[in-house]
Amino acid sequence: MMGHSHALSGALVWLAGVPALTMTGMPVGPAELVAGALVCAGAAMLPDLDHPSATIAQTFGPVTWALSKAVNWVSGGHRNATHSILFAALMGFGAHLLASYSKVASDVVVFLMIGLAFRAIGIGIPKKRLASAAINVVLAAGALGAFMLIGVRYDWLGVAIGVGCLAHVVGDCLTERGCPVLWPIKGRWLLPYKIGIKTGQKFEMKILAPILSIAVVGLLVWRLYPSFTAV
Ligand SMILES: [Zn+2]
Repeated sequence: MMGHSHALSGALVWLAGVPALTMTGMPVGPAELVAGALVCAGAAMLPDLDHPSATIAQTFGPVTWALSKAVNWVSGGHRNATHSILFAALMGFGAHLLASYSKVASDVVVFLMIGLAFRAIGIGIPKKRLASAAINVVLAAGALGAFMLIGVRYDWLGVAIGVGCLAHVVGDCLTERGCPVLWPIKGRWLLPYKIGIKTGQKFEMKILAPILSIAVVGLLVWRLYPSFTAV
């Protein structure tokens, strides 16, 4: 799947799952709802860090490209270790630990995730890598600053990151190439070629992406203004 499909599916899962989070005693206000949707969208890009020419690798210019090269090497190539439940759990747990250990660390993670989300939905100038990275840094910093000003809590950070990574894995399992969901146990989970989604082809671009976009916006409005949409 392409970057924007993954990011949109991450945001969608967050917006859909927020009531469950509230039930577990982690209340999510409007600010956390929006921040979480952005973080989850960004986290839904993380597994493709194993792909140096994917959208995510261009987010912060040479920095993310070099990181991507390293992840590709460590994880054994594209759609390997990072496309698994184990990776999602490690990322989620790691983010949770970081967030409980240091406020600065959690702000850095939130900043990076927002940057990934903005990049995924196409913010930037085509073919201008450094300018796009600069725009991304400024916008992500602006969003983070706004969240700081209104005092957004981040006790949900680990959940959002783990869930975002999982949304990515599920998305790629719907393609004909699949993912090693139970890595390091071998075996790919995928859809047969005939019905599997073909990355970047007509169905994803013309049908899936618009449906996901409308669902994200609709659900966001519904969550923020339940009384408005009930009229
Ligand atoms: Zn992927």
